[in-house]
Amino acid sequence: MTETIAKIENLVLKFYTYEGIVHALDEVNLEIKKGETLGVVGETGCGKSVTGLSILSVVVPPGKIEGGHVLLQTDGGTIDVLQQRPAYLRKIRGRKIAMIFQEPRAALNPVYTVNDQISEAILLHRKTEMCERVLQQIDEEVKRCSQLKRPFLKIEKKIYEKMLKNPDSLLVDTLASIPIIGRFKNRLKKEARKEVIKLLKDMRIPDPERVADMYPHELSGGMAQRVVIAIALSCTPELLIADEPTTNLDVTVQAQILELLNELKSKYNTTLIYITHDMGVIAEVCDRVAVMYAGNVVELAEVYEIFKDPLHPYTKALLQSIPRPGHKFISIEGSVPSLINPPKGCRFHPRCAYAREVCTLVKPQFLEAKPGHFVQCNLYGG
Ligand code: SF4
Repeated sequence: MTETIAKIENLVLKFYTYEGIVHALDEVNLEIKKGETLGVVGETGCGKSVTGLSILSVVVPPGKIEGGHVLLQTDGGTIDVLQQRPAYLRKIRGRKIAMIFQEPRAALNPVYTVNDQISEAILLHRKTEMCERVLQQIDEEVKRCSQLKRPFLKIEKKIYEKMLKNPDSLLVDTLASIPIIGRFKNRLKKEARKEVIKLLKDMRIPDPERVADMYPHELSGGMAQRVVIAIALSCTPELLIADEPTTNLDVTVQAQILELLNELKSKYNTTLIYITHDMGVIAEVCDRVAVMYAGNVVELAEVYEIFKDPLHPYTKALLQSIPRPGHKFISIEGSVPSLINPPKGCRFHPRCAYAREVCTLVKPQFLEAKPGHFVQCNLYGG
């Protein structure tokens, strides 16, 4: 049986706005298996992105997680991400779980270069590894250098040994802030830059040395997206959440990014949650699919099964609305309901052609209708 890397249990998220309380996630349950690509699909406003943000525990006010658990497998056992202290969360974000945010230009800081932004993540999470490399370098230099330079190198070595023992050492940080002494940090920055160049090469960015010194406004849309992916992968996270990473890109760049993500996923051995509203992309990259509607996961199955035998009326409608040459284009009537006053019972009932009285009263249960195929609909499970 495939190992589970993360599990969302009964997740409830609300936004307290001036208009009223938005019931954004209504007891969401999801299991993410190690090494898979799980697609999360649904219309805009169905709760896909906020599910991703909740896994990272980065929901900001007026949003509030009011119930449930996000269980993550770590070396020390299972932890509930939602119950962790901010200092611990900072350690696992980037290293364990990372996210590629929507809109690469908004995700990048306009006043820092590409190198600065990727290096920041590397120096925060991989400082020990960088220190070890620097120490090796200093040892080599000591063998070759003149007697005059040796005492300075020994002082540098002492500082790096201290940093290796305690990467967050206050003494080292204080020394780094003194202009002349702080120059020892240049070695660390140079090592991080080497990693940045390597990552940019992995992202298939031409002339990575030049791109590393560019600012976000100098990058094309596809290039900015690759940089955002590089930041997310810089610490080889075990779980990567990609939130609509190809939405604003033209189709050729979109295809390149999808290919790249597939390749990088195998190379870095990462589990991927791919959030999108595009069923075509789901078919291309995912192993399993979770269909979301108005804050609920309404169907979950393997990708082939979802396309071959969709069970939930919403999934069927989503598949029918994919434009295909020679086929009648059928759009889903109505729109996603306001989640301030969501419909009672099944939230899809105002748009469902199969709705019965019970659907307006009782919220259907999330049941396994076929092996590995789960659905939340009163038409199944009695
Ligand atoms: Fe339609 Fe009822 Fe199923 Fe909801 S529970 S999808 S309203 S049949």
